[in-house]
Amino acid sequence: MRFSLLLLFVPALLTAQNYDVVLRGGRVMDPESGLDAVRNVGVTGKTIAAISTQALRGKTEIDATGLVIAPGFIDLHQHLPGPENYRFKAMDGVTTALELEVGVFPVGEWYSSRQGKALINFGASAGHIPARMAAMKDTGTFLPRDNAMNRRATPEERAAIEASLRRGLDEGGLGIGLGIGYTPSAPSEEILNLFYLGAQWKRPMFIHMRDAGASVPGVVESLQEVIADAAASGAPLHVMHINSQALGRTREALRMIEGARARGVDVTTEAYPYVAGATRLESALFEPGWQEKLGAKFSDLMWVDTGERLTQETFARYRKQGGRIIIFQNTEEMIRAALAHPMVMIASDGGAAPGHPRTAGTFARVLGKYARDEKALTLMDAIRKASLMPAKRLEAMSPQMRMKGRIKVGADADIAVFDPARVIDKATFEKPAEYSEGFRYVLVDGTFVVRDGKLQEGVAPGQGIQAK
Ligand SMILES: [Zn+2]
Repeated sequence: MRFSLLLLFVPALLTAQNYDVVLRGGRVMDPESGLDAVRNVGVTGKTIAAISTQALRGKTEIDATGLVIAPGFIDLHQHLPGPENYRFKAMDGVTTALELEVGVFPVGEWYSSRQGKALINFGASAGHIPARMAAMKDTGTFLPRDNAMNRRATPEERAAIEASLRRGLDEGGLGIGLGIGYTPSAPSEEILNLFYLGAQWKRPMFIHMRDAGASVPGVVESLQEVIADAAASGAPLHVMHINSQALGRTREALRMIEGARARGVDVTTEAYPYVAGATRLESALFEPGWQEKLGAKFSDLMWVDTGERLTQETFARYRKQGGRIIIFQNTEEMIRAALAHPMVMIASDGGAAPGHPRTAGTFARVLGKYARDEKALTLMDAIRKASLMPAKRLEAMSPQMRMKGRIKVGADADIAVFDPARVIDKATFEKPAEYSEGFRYVLVDGTFVVRDGKLQEGVAPGQGIQAK
């Protein structure tokens, strides 16, 4: 009797393994293996444990019929990642948001203050801007507005800046963030020395270049500077938002980066899917001559707080006051050229709170507007640019990233489940704080942060992504 009961139960035990979560019958799209087929996905704990055509049993079972199961998106460019924007990011399919351009200071405290409290995964570079602002006692908030912008650093200040960055790298910073255009008084030699530092630590340089567009120096000379520094030092280089700095020269800039890559320089780049940029009006970007540099006029500037377009008079008043500004300066043609290029990753350049719609809508906009509606790129390419490519950019210095950006057995269960027919951004320049639509389920380390299209309260599965 005991023997026959065992015979009855053993096959059942083998086939009916219980997963914590099963996503049933979704279209799994994995950019690493190229898998694009209907599968059941089983999650155990924090890990993808099964991808199968066989039925799987789970404590929680989700019907994913008609939905795409993709790796959660990795945003390399989200400023001041924190509770105020994590919710928008999660509703846009993002499971990891990294502040790599401006970076942070001090790095260790930044990580420890978020551990156990974050909705999604987080990480940052050691920031040249905040280190320079601290060493030179600049009075700006977030971006320099006086000392760190206007004058050279003394030898003591230079030593203090470099010591801060070394400590930041020691504490796990994912690279060195630089905004050369925001610290125009930092000579080329100060910048090159930071590349040597990055090379010594084998960490990438994340760069907002010195200048933009067709002016002088413009994007060509600005790219020449950082490509030359990368070649001379051996530091990996990531050029932030090629769309908003190359502007009408986007194809030329992409050709330069491709050429450098072909000759062995480790350089990558990214874009966000909007014709307008955003920054702070008191920053160095609006020093005299800005119209030519940015290819914009007063009426191309929108004051975020009121939505008004500027005049010469309001420009002067608001610049003294300081605050956020949106700059309409690019064309749809250039955005499509950047997004469609196989080398370009997707990254939002989002802000602390939505002032520009890119904070809330970047990823849904690429999937819905540019991939589905305009066919500027395939859905698989859009997913690859938003997940696998950013993961690969960081995996040499952060082994955690080898298990992200993929739907495969053993990978972290960072998963975005969306409706490919409905996914779209809802945030606009007039109403930037609108959640994207179409993300039905988003998991971070196996925990739902979005479920049935709704944000989940009281969960904080986000982990710090650090360099080792
Ligand atoms: Zn920037």
